[in-house]
Amino acid sequence: MQITDRITQVSGIGPAYAKRLERLGIYKVSDLLYHKPLRYIDYSVVSAIGQIQEGETVTIRGKVKTITSNFIRGRRLTIQRAVIEDETGEVQLTFFNQPFLVNMFIGNMVGISGTVKKFGNKLTFDQPEYEVLRSVGGIHTGRIVAVYPQTEGISSKWLRVKIAFVLNNVENFDDPIPIKVIQENNLMNLSKALNNLHHPESINDIENARGRLAFDELLYLQLASIIRKRLWRSKKLSTKLEVNSHLTEINQFIANLPFDLTDDQKRAISEILADLRNDRPMNRLLSGDVGSGKTVIAAVALYLSSLNRTRSLFMAPTEILATQHYQTLTKLFSPVNIKVGLTTSSTKQNTQDSDVLVGTHALLHDQNYLKSISLIVVDEQHRFGVQQRSFLSLNSGNPHLLTMTATPIPRTIALTIYGELDVSTIVQMPKGRKRIKTFVVDKSKHIKGYDWIAKQVLGSKKTGDREQAFIVYPLIEESEKMTEIKAATSEYLKLKKGPFKNLNVGLLHGKLKPNQKQKIMKSFKDKKLDILISTTVIEVGMDIPNATIMVVEHAERFGLAQLHQLRGRVGRNNKESWCFLFSDMKSERLKAMETNYSGITLAEIDLRIRGGGDIFGIKQHGASELKFASFSDSGILRQARKSAQDILDKDPKLIDHQNIKKNLSSLLDLKVLPN
Ligand code: ADP
Ligand code: MG
Repeated sequence: MQITDRITQVSGIGPAYAKRLERLGIYKVSDLLYHKPLRYIDYSVVSAIGQIQEGETVTIRGKVKTITSNFIRGRRLTIQRAVIEDETGEVQLTFFNQPFLVNMFIGNMVGISGTVKKFGNKLTFDQPEYEVLRSVGGIHTGRIVAVYPQTEGISSKWLRVKIAFVLNNVENFDDPIPIKVIQENNLMNLSKALNNLHHPESINDIENARGRLAFDELLYLQLASIIRKRLWRSKKLSTKLEVNSHLTEINQFIANLPFDLTDDQKRAISEILADLRNDRPMNRLLSGDVGSGKTVIAAVALYLSSLNRTRSLFMAPTEILATQHYQTLTKLFSPVNIKVGLTTSSTKQNTQDSDVLVGTHALLHDQNYLKSISLIVVDEQHRFGVQQRSFLSLNSGNPHLLTMTATPIPRTIALTIYGELDVSTIVQMPKGRKRIKTFVVDKSKHIKGYDWIAKQVLGSKKTGDREQAFIVYPLIEESEKMTEIKAATSEYLKLKKGPFKNLNVGLLHGKLKPNQKQKIMKSFKDKKLDILISTTVIEVGMDIPNATIMVVEHAERFGLAQLHQLRGRVGRNNKESWCFLFSDMKSERLKAMETNYSGITLAEIDLRIRGGGDIFGIKQHGASELKFASFSDSGILRQARKSAQDILDKDPKLIDHQNIKKNLSSLLDLKVLPN
């Protein structure tokens, strides 16, 4: 049997079992070997029967003295009672509906593992793990045993047997990782790691096995990331830009801005200009919290493209954002006579003769247009998947690419999944921004909270210094859309009639048509609405200067970094602003929001508490496939990065590492690695 064989090659696995295994994502022999136990039960304490005590979890070994099977009166159940003995005593076992045990047990030596109970004054095991002992050492008893996630028709016991069988019978079990890497990093070899994963002798074995398998996962991610980076480096640039001769104009543009740039903004601009001077396409990620002023940095790059008499693209994830950027850029560029166009599925403005074209990612499908541009800016980068970015392999050469994100990404993660990007980070916020006062509000105070908000907003209408509020409901999965919309709609009606009856309240949800959304957003922006209830977070990046209050319902469902981004929707106008995190539970994690104002710090706190799964952008990079590794394994991450680098330094095309290359294919389009 080969590790690459289909699962039906394993003896005893027919089409029926294969179907069930598919539900667990198991198609091949290797999938079975990498099937991760949910937990382990320690049955390694073996006791003489005479010494077992009530409540103990133990294994006993003995001879079957008697076993009977009977119907339970009036029911269709059968009950099996057995007595097991050794030199020190005997104990009773009870099973249900397993009449076959009679033939299996009778006269044999068996191993029994479970928790000892007392029935009357007798010690018993109810439905324990069992096996007939044919040789020394068992699979299900007398050791640490693996428990697998449950699925119908596949028991842990069945899996243990099949996996043990496969481990004993699989041939050619080559370790794809070079021996040198294994030694340097003190790793267990692969076959031992898989053995220990399923049949550990000790807790230590489990840890070491997990360490090895985690290393592999991170190594492949790192390899893919380095390869993507090298690939980008080898790309031709479509249009070379002239920078130095335009520095005066750029400085003039910056000097005419209504504010002074922060030092971080200036640094990011010079990093970008340095990239734009190059003969190869820029691939830079500009990362900075919401409100840190990324747009104006992008504007400088767009301006440079126009000064070179070339066209550029600015892409946003939603129509609303595209429209907003269109307005911002039109204003920014009007003094310098740069024409901005807008194209979305519902509008087209100045698209023909624009220098800078703003739009949604629908723009990417216009290959003709793409050919003629020198720079693409992608806002809220995490929303674009790898596929969408892979458009950037035009034969005519690639334009410069600047991607922007407000998603705080811990450095270790950035290096792993965005390894192909150069990163500029803005930490400093523009001067004068006030801290957004943040409170976790538990259930008992929700009503009071709404009343306070109503008073605050109503008061502001009287003074004329308007304030507005967002109320956000989480939308976790696409499939929940309808229920969430219903919840938000009924909540909207309740609030409108209740605490907010003297205010104008709007409702925005994902099922509205783009022009309806647009209309509601516009009324909010034009202050016709005081309060906007929204089901989604699609409008990240939306700029409403008078919004001072952000309420997040069911806040516990969000990652801290996401909450931080939502909080960034308010406090844009140097006014006192508030963020209320409504939650039905008491959550220490949420409390971190009250005292932390750095997106990166919050992301790192969440990484420690919840692992990396919530961090945007990870999914698109195959990292959600991590089974054994976690981004909080910073030690393993570092080791894997170094090893990946070493491997590729010596063998850039992985010619001597064909197995590694094969395994990379799920992360990387292998056409990029010609032989
Ligand atoms: P984000 O990084 O979230 O995209 P924006 O670019 O939308 O942030 O900037 C938020 C607001 O801050 C905008 O109104 C912008 O004009 C303003 N802004 C940007 N840089 C500065 C600065 N250095 N000083 C003051 N205000 C700034
Ligand atoms: Mg922005």
